[in-house]
Amino acid sequence: MSINAVCACGAAYNLKDEYAGTTLACAKCGAPVAVPQPPPPPPVRPQAGDPAFARDLFLLNQQHLAIREKYTVADEEGAPVLYVERPRYILLNVLAILGGLFAGGVNLIIFGVLYGLVQMSALDQVLLTLLALWQKLGSLFVVVVVSMALSKKRHVTVYRDESRGEVLLSILQEYKVQLLGSSFTVTDPQGVPVGRLVKKYLHNIFRKRWYCFAPGGELLFTAREDSVILSILRRFLGSFFGLLRTNFLICGPLGNVLGEFNRRMTLLDRYVLDMTQDPTRQIDRRLALAVGVMLDTGEKR
Ligand SMILES: [Zn+2]
Repeated sequence: MSINAVCACGAAYNLKDEYAGTTLACAKCGAPVAVPQPPPPPPVRPQAGDPAFARDLFLLNQQHLAIREKYTVADEEGAPVLYVERPRYILLNVLAILGGLFAGGVNLIIFGVLYGLVQMSALDQVLLTLLALWQKLGSLFVVVVVSMALSKKRHVTVYRDESRGEVLLSILQEYKVQLLGSSFTVTDPQGVPVGRLVKKYLHNIFRKRWYCFAPGGELLFTAREDSVILSILRRFLGSFFGLLRTNFLICGPLGNVLGEFNRRMTLLDRYVLDMTQDPTRQIDRRLALAVGVMLDTGEKR
């Protein structure tokens, strides 16, 4: 921090905090210049939602080899404060694909029979071509569409604890399939939207990035990979025995760094969401945690 003082002659000074409240002689005209007190720091914003979110450090510990992606979220002492689950729906998705294949097979048979009937009555050549085309390409289309329709959205739920008795936050996948990105609505226990997380796949090539918007559409913060060079190395070398594990910076709308999401080197499979660079809580910790969970479950790393 520094303090600005201006002399009556127009000379401006940028002074250290220790000069606050003193009077200095102007170097230009010699007149006394009163150095004002530094502006008070902005007040700490109250944390909305459950008090469990009112903290700066979250340790995310993934339980591997589970049917669902599970996390225990702990405070800096390692005491559990939240519990996160994201179902995988492995069996359901296998059934969805089987359902899609079945529907595609039905399409193949029906249009095969129709083609035969039209051919026998020696009708229009154009109609025959269309039927043949739909029988083959259309069947593929039906497989894809029906599989997607039967698959389930993968919502993330944040509970108070492992008993899963009390939901504190939901991260809802907005669409089953999105070609250029993915988006999620974060809601409180009453279902009221708190914010929106958006990822664009195009950024994956160089530097992975997530955007967080307020329910009204205003950009609140972004989470992006820490460095372009490391990002590119990661694309080619993978994690390189853990040395190139992805780290993300959480930045305000003006690009100022407010937090980090890192793998803690000393602990296996433990990620740290560190918001200590945002002591006045410009970022709602519920949204910061939501991004942290998506950075891990949404990124294969
Ligand atoms: Zn002066």
